[in-house]
Amino acid sequence: MSVAPPPTVTLGHRFARELPELALPWQAEEAPDPRLLVLNEPLAAELGLDPDWLRTPEGTGLLTGTVVPDGATPVAQAYAGHQFGGFVPRLGDGRALLLGELVDADGHLRDLHLKGSGRTPFARGGADGRAAVGPMLREYVVSEAMHALGIPTTRSLAVVATGRLVRRETLLPGAVLARVASSHLRVGTFQYARVTGDVDLLRRLADSAIPRHGVGVGDGEAAEAEHPYLALFESVLAAQASLVARWMLVGFVHGVMNTDNTTISGETIDYGPCAFMEAYDPATVYSSIDTGGRYAYGNQPAVVQWNLARFAEALLPLFSDDVEQAVALATESLGAFPGQYDAAWSAGMRAKLGLPEGLDDAVARPLVEELLAQLQQSSVDFTSFFRALGAAARGDAEPARELFLDLAAFDGWLERWRALGPDAEVMDRVNPVYTPRNHLVEEALAAATEGDLDPLERLLDAVTGPFEERAGLERYAAPAPQDFGVYRTFCGT
Ligand code: AMP
Ligand code: MG
Repeated sequence: MSVAPPPTVTLGHRFARELPELALPWQAEEAPDPRLLVLNEPLAAELGLDPDWLRTPEGTGLLTGTVVPDGATPVAQAYAGHQFGGFVPRLGDGRALLLGELVDADGHLRDLHLKGSGRTPFARGGADGRAAVGPMLREYVVSEAMHALGIPTTRSLAVVATGRLVRRETLLPGAVLARVASSHLRVGTFQYARVTGDVDLLRRLADSAIPRHGVGVGDGEAAEAEHPYLALFESVLAAQASLVARWMLVGFVHGVMNTDNTTISGETIDYGPCAFMEAYDPATVYSSIDTGGRYAYGNQPAVVQWNLARFAEALLPLFSDDVEQAVALATESLGAFPGQYDAAWSAGMRAKLGLPEGLDDAVARPLVEELLAQLQQSSVDFTSFFRALGAAARGDAEPARELFLDLAAFDGWLERWRALGPDAEVMDRVNPVYTPRNHLVEEALAAATEGDLDPLERLLDAVTGPFEERAGLERYAAPAPQDFGVYRTFCGT
């Protein structure tokens, strides 16, 4: 039953063509009764896809992979990965497909990818290759919230209910997520190529990533010509250092930072057991399977650095034929991570506090450290605090003061901070009012699973305009009620 999409939809297959060893041609399973639940019209427009056409049966067919334009080659991508520290040489898209590449309005190549499109040969054990409506909508809402916060991320184009029930702890409605990314190259993709022992494959993979992710654009090109693969490593390191700093600055806990979930593009990927921290505490963990706290909020920068070390190991044969020389180059480059992370995070914290430019680090650093200690001690809600502090910069300190148990200590801090003349405008541009709070996400997903999309739409409206406070959206700015309890998220759904 394949109806040809209009000729305006052209899907490239560059990945499949350039890296056939990593691309297994495959097709999506039929969706018995597809129903479009949510469509990202602005993103569709960016990609040159007509939203009205995407709503037709043919368009929905594209969004579930069952109607594929002529010339496209959907593939399951191979990758490896360290999962909770243990290496798995063959993971790959067990329930996902790269449909192909689109050229966006800015001329950039973007992957159109599906999640939940049926079992592929990479699926292990009894895994069914499917996805449930709730987790796919969760990825949609959290990734679009991250994008609105200005944080690099894969995007969500649509969620289509398949009309099939999927077996989890209970039977749940199934769905396919259409995801868009600047690529789906992961640290784990390089690890996969490396363990094949085929250095030519590893080199071709790196050679395809370099132009795609803009390595060599900008300064230092002479050095890059001499050491293009080291330049690739350093550019991924810079992108990831900046990314994890952005996560930390909004209280985002990814939850499953395995190397297969660490991108070469520096985009956040794979929204499984992620959550936004409420009460500030570096030990915050939400994922039910992260019993050791490996991926706790406060560990995230160190984990990214660890994942980058695995990336460097995979690239070693490209750095130099001489192993010692290769290791020396990798080690030196990796050594830049703490400084780059700290610079990005510190600059972000200064903006969150509205501190004046050029303020001495000897003043800023202890001020920030002391504040974080007080936030932790009083279990202060991370998001509301910074917004309340913006009000304090405008003269009304009460909303911020109300959040603390030890008021004497906070008043002392406030006095020091106010004396620096903080800029409330700067603060309100970087401190969100609305984040996808866990209780709101759960509420929206539960309703959507029952067929009511209204709560999801209201939540999306709030979190896709995160910086502008709007009347009527108060409950989207408030922490979870006490009776929400300890929040746990689940993967593999
Ligand atoms: P993730 O935890 O989502 O990063 O996925 C880790 C691996 O498990 C990937 O290889 C996925 O393709 C695979 N996977 C997760 N869920 C399923 C499923 N329901 N069916 C098949 N493979 C899956
Ligand atoms: Mg993954």
